[in-house]
Amino acid sequence: MAQPKYRIATIGSHSALQIFKGAHDEGFKTIAVCKKGSESPYKMFNAADDIISIDSYKNFPKIQKELIKKNAIIIPHGSFVTYMGYEEVEKLKVNYYGNKKILKWESDRHLERQWLTKSGLKVPLLFKKPEDIDRLVIVKFMGAEGGRGYFLAKDKKDFYRKIKPYQLRKYVLQEYIIGVPLFIHYFYSSLTNEIEIMGCDIRYESNVDSLGRISARDQIVLPKIDPSYVIVGNIPVVVRESFLPRLIEMGEKVVEVSKKLAPPGLFGPFCLETILTPEEEIYVFEISARIVAGTNPFIEGSPYTWLKYDKPMSTGRRIAIEIKNAIKTNQMKRVLG
Ligand code: ATP
Repeated sequence: MAQPKYRIATIGSHSALQIFKGAHDEGFKTIAVCKKGSESPYKMFNAADDIISIDSYKNFPKIQKELIKKNAIIIPHGSFVTYMGYEEVEKLKVNYYGNKKILKWESDRHLERQWLTKSGLKVPLLFKKPEDIDRLVIVKFMGAEGGRGYFLAKDKKDFYRKIKPYQLRKYVLQEYIIGVPLFIHYFYSSLTNEIEIMGCDIRYESNVDSLGRISARDQIVLPKIDPSYVIVGNIPVVVRESFLPRLIEMGEKVVEVSKKLAPPGLFGPFCLETILTPEEEIYVFEISARIVAGTNPFIEGSPYTWLKYDKPMSTGRRIAIEIKNAIKTNQMKRVLG
């Protein structure tokens, strides 16, 4: 019996609308796996040809058989990896776009740091213990939660005072870099070994991005106004053109190093999360080894994809094209992890 056509599937959240739109543009049918009650966007925007509702994302492995029968290819996104955990993702049997083995390297802050430093990228300093704090630090809890609860501390006394409500949580103490946080979206093709810059964004975070609307005089008299980093949305950015050669080289380096860390290495969409200082230094504080939500403003494409493709090209659509090319050239093994 002939194999049914591949369908593009993912969890209904994060960048699923973009992934499905891109899949449709390239002629694939789509499957949205939604938590009960969150189906409406996928119906409203005709994004899903098929919706599978589950009570909890933890039940995702239970519907695998159905997905396998439908010849689905899972496209991982931020919520997918967060809800499932990388160990569960590694166990999945259903077709999966990307290299699962790389997820461990992005999910563990220490491994991630090794990857970035091996790639020759500048990373913020880490302090082993609160007693070592000798400059402004950002205290980050383990596990990506969109910056919820992160706080700044200027010395050990400040740290011990602010950590009180979070006593039992694991954290890292990272040098706070003053500059512009810039998120660079890349795509690396495992078929052609070419890297592309797909776009850049800055995030709008609550409350840190609104603190500038309150004068310093008022901030001082307010009883407790610590910055927090809860993401609200993403804003497109076109970077100064003279930064581009450095950004391209940074993407190339992390891909090159990933080939040794977790063969066959990182491929598909990924993002470097950076801070650009007034001295034009670029610090990388995180890497996401999958599509990021910062690509969502570019469903019609970004200025960079417009230069390259001359037609609307989102990251979601770029993924669909890659899968289509792999099917055409009989190289599915090179895109499935
Ligand atoms: P994500 O959902 O992206 O994985 P997360 O919980 O891992 O989020 P980070 O992305 O590490 O959180 O940080 C949240 C925000 O904190 C960033 O968007 C940025 O504004 C700020 N930030 C993080 N690290 C630093 C740093 N070293 N210096 C200055 N600001 C930082």
